[in-house]
Amino acid sequence: MTIGIVAVQGAFLEHEKMLDRLGVEYAELRQKSDLEREYDGLILPGGESTVQGKLLKELDMFDTLKKWIDGGIPVLATCAGMILLADKLSNDDKHYFQSIPMTVRRNAYGRQMGSFHTSARFGDKGNIPMTFIRAPFVEAAAPEAEILSVVDSHIVGVRYKNQIALAFHPELDDDLTVHKTFLEMI
Ligand code: GLN
Repeated sequence: MTIGIVAVQGAFLEHEKMLDRLGVEYAELRQKSDLEREYDGLILPGGESTVQGKLLKELDMFDTLKKWIDGGIPVLATCAGMILLADKLSNDDKHYFQSIPMTVRRNAYGRQMGSFHTSARFGDKGNIPMTFIRAPFVEAAAPEAEILSVVDSHIVGVRYKNQIALAFHPELDDDLTVHKTFLEMI
């Protein structure tokens, strides 16, 4: 099994460390030629969604990745990754893969609450640590989307088909629950 990690910008190294700990192989997806082989799963890391979206288009990687996602490859998307999967952004005209029927608000916590750490439920796996950095949250999700996590009455984790989208950064904490759950989906 090999996971493709989108590595054009952002916190991809931290996801690699998690997969190292789980003994799972991965490859960095940095350019179009990295998409010439098949992967068993896809990770979209945190970072800056506008920059990532722009780079993926400039590098001519976007359409192939969209085809993979629409074709059902298991996806773990964190923070900026969640923004890339949203059908709609409430405070931005842009849209990217639009593979999850949900409306996401970018930088939803404002400047005061720019970054914070907490712990909350993740699906049926109990509480896990959660680190938020200029995070989005989900303003509305279609009924077919399963709500995995809620913090302060905002949806911060969603599963739709075999895509997991999280507003927080599981790769920045020690806990491997999220990555294990993702691998179980494959
Ligand atoms: N604020 C970033 C964005 O809008 C997301 C932040 C993150 O990935 N840590 O893309």
